Amino acid sequence: MRNEYRIKFVTKVTADTLEELAGKLEGVNAAEFLKTANAFNASVKSEIPFNHTVLDGRGTEGIYPPKSNWAQALDTAPYEAYQTTCGITFTFGGLRTTAETGQVLNVHLKPIKGLYCAGEMLGGIFYFNYPSGTGLVSGSVFGRIAGHSAGNAALGK
Ligand SMILES: Cc1cc2nc3c(=O)[nH]c(=O)nc-3n(C[C@H](O)[C@H](O)[C@H](O)COP(=O)(O)OP(=O)(O)OC[C@H]3O[C@@H](n4cnc5c(N)ncnc54)[C@H](O)[C@@H]3O)c2cc1C
Repeated sequence: MRNEYRIKFVTKVTADTLEELAGKLEGVNAAEFLKTANAFNASVKSEIPFNHTVLDGRGTEGIYPPKSNWAQALDTAPYEAYQTTCGITFTFGGLRTTAETGQVLNVHLKPIKGLYCAGEMLGGIFYFNYPSGTGLVSGSVFGRIAGHSAGNAALGK
């Protein structure tokens, strides 16, 4: 993983064995964790050499869902466990607004009174990918426009 994932402040637990690790996992059923980890380890097609540069076919068999490539048994200490969650980096879609005021347009492309939009709620900027840093730039630029317009509208300007 990239260095940003190796910072020392990250919350994780470390152990020399899977059994020890199981005992350190808060809120995790230790017996089920060990059963799952051992079943995964036993299912790896270890006769196929690992090669991360191609789809190496080193998958698993006998577990569900199966892993197709790059299966590596968890058999070398230190063992580390992290809590993970998913995040949505970009929505790649959203509401249509006027460019000048950030006011949301209805399906007939007429501005909806009192409704403004910026940030990830705003559509029409990116579709399949995005240049780095543009989420926050988009939020700042269109946020300022929308906020300014909303303030003006509130003042009756
Ligand atoms: C892992 C990750 C990495 C990223 N890295 C970058 C990066 O390096 N550079 C970059 O430019 N962009 C990055 N982005 C994208 C960027 O973070 C987003 O584009 C930006 O934060 C969107 O801002 P926003 O204000 O539109 O939405 P958000 O930041 O999602 O804010 C929406 C807010 O509304 C609140 N909310 C939701 N529903 C309600 C409700 N009913 N009532 C009241 N409040 C509510 C939420 O709690 C939240 O605080 C990253 C995103 C992710 C997930």
